[in-house]
Parts: sequence; C-alpha cells; structure tokens
Amino acid sequence: MWGSQGLVRRFGDRLVRPGDGRYGAACAVHNAVVERRPAAVVYCRSEDEVRAVVVEAGEAGLGVVVRSTGHGVAGRSVADGAVVVDVGGIDHVAADRRRITVGGGAVWLKTDAVCEAAGVAVTGGTVSSTGVGGLTLGGGIGWLLPSYGLACDSLVGARVVTGNGTVIEADDAATPELMWALRGSGAGLGVVTEFGFRAHPLLPVHGGSFAVDLDRVGDWAGAVAELMSDPVPSTMLGPSFLFRDGVPMLSVDVAMHGPGPRDLARIDALRRLPGIMSDTVRPRSYVSLQTMIDEPSRSGLRSYWTAGYPAMVRPELIVALAGRIRRSPSGRSIVFLENLHGAYTRPPLPTSFPTREPRLSALITGAWHDRADDEANMDWIASVRDVLAPYLSHHDAYLNYSSDQKGTGRPDAPARLRAVRTALDPHGVFV
Ligand SMILES: Cc1cc2nc3c(=O)[nH]c(=O)nc-3n(C[C@H](O)[C@H](O)[C@H](O)COP(=O)(O)OP(=O)(O)OC[C@H]3O[C@@H](n4cnc5c(N)ncnc54)[C@H](O)[C@@H]3O)c2cc1C
Repeated sequence: MWGSQGLVRRFGDRLVRPGDGRYGAACAVHNAVVERRPAAVVYCRSEDEVRAVVVEAGEAGLGVVVRSTGHGVAGRSVADGAVVVDVGGIDHVAADRRRITVGGGAVWLKTDAVCEAAGVAVTGGTVSSTGVGGLTLGGGIGWLLPSYGLACDSLVGARVVTGNGTVIEADDAATPELMWALRGSGAGLGVVTEFGFRAHPLLPVHGGSFAVDLDRVGDWAGAVAELMSDPVPSTMLGPSFLFRDGVPMLSVDVAMHGPGPRDLARIDALRRLPGIMSDTVRPRSYVSLQTMIDEPSRSGLRSYWTAGYPAMVRPELIVALAGRIRRSPSGRSIVFLENLHGAYTRPPLPTSFPTREPRLSALITGAWHDRADDEANMDWIASVRDVLAPYLSHHDAYLNYSSDQKGTGRPDAPARLRAVRTALDPHGVFV
C-alpha cells in the first residue's frame, strides 16, 4: 500500500487508498465510462501538500495525475496505479483591476463571482462547475471569447509544481516556453497550484436562449447559418440540439458582452421567427450569464465526446442536425455549435493552442445511463459525425472536447512541447 507513515499522519482521511470504504467514490469522475484504480487519491489543500505527495510518489516510482473537478471527458485526472493529486481544495480566488489570481482547483462559479464583484472578467467556461485548471490548460472556449479570446489567452502567470517537487513561478519574462506550453497544450506539465490571469473590464451583458420547436427549424436554419458565418461582434452564438424535459429542440444560446444597438438589433430580429417556445435572452448579471446553461445532473452519466472545426455552416446542416437529435437513443445527448471569432483570432501572447484558423466549433456529447446502451449511443454519435463530416476542416478536434484526448507526453506531441515537458519532468512522473 503506497504512502509513508508521515504522509498518512499528515493527510488523515484526506488520503484514500484501495480497501478504504470511500475508495470507489474517490476514483469516480464526471464520465462514468472512466473506471480506473489509482494507488491513492490525496486531497491537497496547499502547495506544500502537493509537493510532499509528488516527491513521495516519484520516490516510489509511481505516476502522478492531477484532478480539479474530474470533468475532463477523457478521464485523464485518474489513472490505474498512479497517485491522484486532487487540488479541489486549493480554490482561493482574488481579483483586482489588473489581475485575477485563481487556485489550481477552483471552479468558474467562484472565479466569476469574485470577478463580478471587482468589475472585471476573463473568458471562462459556459458551465460554472467546470474547473479553471483543465479548461484553461486546454484552451478554454467561453461566452466572452469574442471580447477576450480563449481563457488561456489571458494567462500571464502560474505557480507550477514540477516532477521533483520544485515550485516554478512562471511568467513570460522568466519562463516564456513554459507559459507558451501552459497556454493551450493540455495537462501533464506539472501541478498548477495557482493561475494568474490578466483582468479585463466587465461590460454589461445580455444573454439567454431561444428554445425553438424542431418542426420550425427550417424557418431558423438560414438565420442561424448567417449569424455563424457573419457573427455579431460582441456576441457568442451557440446553437445546440438537445432535450429539455424529454422534448428535443433547437436551443439558440446567446451571450452578448457590451453589445451596441446594431448588435442588439441583429439578435432581436430572431424574435420575429416562428416556433419560439421560450425566450430567456435579456440583460443579466455576469454570474447569471455564466450559469445560464448549467445542468448539474449530468455528472455520473456514461459519456463519449467527439468534436471538430467546421469550415462553414449551411442551413442544410442545421436541418440535418435537427433530424439527428430526434433519433438520440438516450434523450440526453447534445450537439453544440459555437462561433469562434473576434479576439479568438488575435491572441496577444504566444500560445500552443494548435489553430486559430477555423471560425466554428462543433461538439457531439453523447450521454446515457446504462452500459447496455453503449452500442446504440455510440452508433448514434457516429451517425451525427457523418452528418458533420463534409463540413469539417482538417484541424484536429479541440482537446477539451475530445474523449480521445492524449496528454502532452504523447509520442506525437510537437518537439517544442516535448522539450518543455522533459525539462520540467525528466523522469516522467506526470502520466
Ligand atoms: C459540463 C461540462 C461543461 C464544459 N464546458 C466547457 C466550455 O464551456 N468550454 C470549454 O472549453 N470546455 C468545456 N468543457 C470541457 C472542459 O474544458 C474539460 O473537460 C476540462 O478538461 C475540464 O477541466 P477540469 O479541471 O474541470 O477537469 P479535470 O478532469 O479535473 O482535469 C482535466 C485535465 O486537466 C488537468 N488539470 C486540471 N487542473 C489542473 C491543475 N491545476 N494543474 C495541472 N493539471 C490540471 C487534469 O490532470 C486533467 O488532465 C466542459 C466539460 C464539461 C463536463
């Protein structure tokens, strides 16, 4: 059984190992398909604790993985035989007009609330229970993307515990290569105990969703395709195909940051289209915008996500996707489109996020309850993928949206990334 007496004494019931009644729950992550048996799960509350665990795991020749919320669909925050460093307890957040400081295990809900109180913002996730850690390290698509780019585009500093337990205070002056790697290449570089973001002004926000009757999607397809190819500058538009209360529908999610009258008029024009079952688009507080599509009950479902970057959206695609969602065997899956534009195309700092070229993202999130339904749901996901395939550009799927996500240590990772990783973790402690 891994873990010295000193470690057992120090962590008490925050160290969970096989045989402990809490072990099963400690290994569970958001995606129920992921079933791994780590050597231990250690709940850390401070950087010192993280260092102690990394050093002791390394000395024992065990791998280390980091977990903040366990949202990552690929399940890279747990691994067989490794030590899970759970940083969920390191969740301090502070913000002033220049900088937002966030603990490595904080979630966006807490971060956004602190930011709103300080009158600042940074691009965060569209679901508030998602961790700042994994989302930022993989890029970070969120409602403020047209104004402030990906979450990682605002990352200006980090505290990183390396494979030998050393702490690096990273910034662009001292460690430019590490900052480049942290901005968008994914996890596996170390334990980030603190993120430092550039703070941006928080402008008035409007947002919500138009829930549209699927029988009227033909009337919406042209307008949605037009708004995706010629985006409203202040606005993130996310047409999604999903179920609410068992009813399949098109939900046109809208998030506007500092919209001008022309922007508001273009979105307002949607209200003249037929088939609106509900309309929640209105001025909101920032936290209300950031939580408007939260759906906490999705944790613990079996999931498979696949994604890509469409080069364009035609009305026929909108109609075809509406046809597919009706046939979802689980009634829990979602197909999301998002338009990537504005500041996303002009990152202010060098990033390892692989592309800025495509202007659209597509995500199929299959979600279902029972193992017996795996095949039916995987077949359905493949059928949606077939509908999207003719539209997809050659770029690899967005890391954070892929069940097949590989780590920064993958053999085919770019040489520049491998060099950063090797320098930080020459013995490959982080798996
Ligand atoms: C409900 C839901 C909504 C989502 N919405 C969005 C969205 O709007 N935009 C978007 O871009 N993505 C979104 N995602 C995808 C999300 O970005 C990824 O799932 C991301 O990996 C989650 O990070 P996490 O820290 O919450 O999860 P975890 O599973 O805990 O971590 C994911 C990866 O990041 C690593 N990691 C986490 N924290 C640290 C840290 N402090 N130091 C080092 N490594 C760390 C882990 O080791 C793991 O490899 C969503 C996912 C879910 C489930």
